[in-house]
Amino acid sequence: MKAAEIRQTFLKFFESKGHQIVASSPVVPGDDPTLLFTNAGMNQFKDVFLGFDKRSYNRATTAQKCIRAGGKHNDLDNVGYTARHHTFFEMLGNFSFGDYFKQDAIAYAWELLTTKFNLPAEKLWVTVYAEDDEAYEIWNKQIGVPAERIVRIGDNKGGRYASDNFWMMGDTGPCGPCTEIFYDHGPEIAGGPPGSPDEDGDRYIEIWNNVFMQFNRDEAGVMHKLPKPSVDTGMGLERLAAVLQHVHSNYEIDTFVALLAAAKAAVDAAGGQDCDKDSPSLKVIADHIRACSFTIVDGIIPGNEGRGYVLRRITRRAIRHGYKLGARTPFFHKIVAELANQMGDAYPELRQSQQRVVEVLKQEEERFFQTIANGMEILEAALSGGAKQIDGETAFKLHDTYGFPVDLTADVCRERGVTVDQAGFQVAMERQRQQARAAGKFKMSAGLEYTGSATQFHGYEHLVCEHSKVTAIYVDGS
Ligand code: ATP
Ligand code: MG
Ligand code: MG
Ligand code: MG
Repeated sequence: MKAAEIRQTFLKFFESKGHQIVASSPVVPGDDPTLLFTNAGMNQFKDVFLGFDKRSYNRATTAQKCIRAGGKHNDLDNVGYTARHHTFFEMLGNFSFGDYFKQDAIAYAWELLTTKFNLPAEKLWVTVYAEDDEAYEIWNKQIGVPAERIVRIGDNKGGRYASDNFWMMGDTGPCGPCTEIFYDHGPEIAGGPPGSPDEDGDRYIEIWNNVFMQFNRDEAGVMHKLPKPSVDTGMGLERLAAVLQHVHSNYEIDTFVALLAAAKAAVDAAGGQDCDKDSPSLKVIADHIRACSFTIVDGIIPGNEGRGYVLRRITRRAIRHGYKLGARTPFFHKIVAELANQMGDAYPELRQSQQRVVEVLKQEEERFFQTIANGMEILEAALSGGAKQIDGETAFKLHDTYGFPVDLTADVCRERGVTVDQAGFQVAMERQRQQARAAGKFKMSAGLEYTGSATQFHGYEHLVCEHSKVTAIYVDGS
């Protein structure tokens, strides 16, 4: 089953159970200052769960565009390292607004997985919230999942991907205990079952979370009961597609195979020659083109703060991975056409804004390609010393002069088992801010260097206006 068919099967199944099919909301939430990007299907229904908004339906189903690259759910650093995490992914969901609850939610999920998608029951594991005897009983007694494949899990005690059966959208907002369904990809893949010490592996992959929405968490951390117990579920389309297409990694599913080929062609044409088709860097590029394109479609452009800075960071990370594979000229924007081929039917806005996305990315690439070579030289020199940590001053110089966001520097360092002195970096940042303030209302520090007759971009020019929100404007106008 191709991804497009899986999406349709999911929506049609829940439609047949009385759910209204609702379109995805944008990845940039319009009216929720607590959210950087849409991180789950339930975001657009937040006020319905809270009882502030009412719809003409009390059951809904969606395929939602999500981005997890900042805020509470941040998977940016997982991309390229796990088989299952993306910055952008599609979340398939069904929702009950005060209508059905645990019983039906669990029964629907099981019916869909085992009779429509025909997954073998013995490969499915489930987790429930530690104290949720009701959910445990439904799984065990009514559905018939044996006790040895039901795991009780409490609140997250830490750990990189540790299971957590109390779901929260953010630090505030609707939340509740959840039950999750995992698929066992088989003993040839490393990793233990959910809740075990080696659950971080990719053998048992979480595919679906069913959240029993019961509370609203306020800023002080106090839980208030919601007007009506509700259901919010989320299943990663790419993870389900991997299972149904009998592959292990999300990057082997139909849509990603095409994107990876486009990424390789673009990198090769930009100097990569015949780059390694299995390189994790290509996966990162294929992942990031989706997040960047959908963000730009929704009106964000690369910038120095907020969402614009997240976009810039993701774009530059992708460019750096292309650079690592040999690209020396803009390549990233060339992948947009294949993305539109793959996803333009489901998300027509992608085709509508395609030209603009290409232009915005190309501009950002042209800008970063001016400094990346010199920046990489400095970073390579710092790494060649064998130190286990890059000092804050170097990270700051890379940030300030060469446009390397500190997480990009950290991304390069991580590949070599080296860390960045983040505290030292912050100290350097703060020092610069203070110096700028002390210098008075306006401060100009020229960053242009003349080499012969050509003007070479060398650094950023800072224009600091004490009484406005503008803190830095780059020479190149960004
Ligand atoms: P994980 O533990 O694997 O990081 P999660 O528990 O953070 O996933 P949820 O918040 O429960 O994920 O989201 C619901 C579903 O969305 C998950 O079960 C998974 O199928 C999918 N999903 C979550 N994060 C990602 C991601 N970064 N990329 C792709 N799919 C994801
Ligand atoms: Mg996660
Ligand atoms: Mg999880
Ligand atoms: Mg989960």
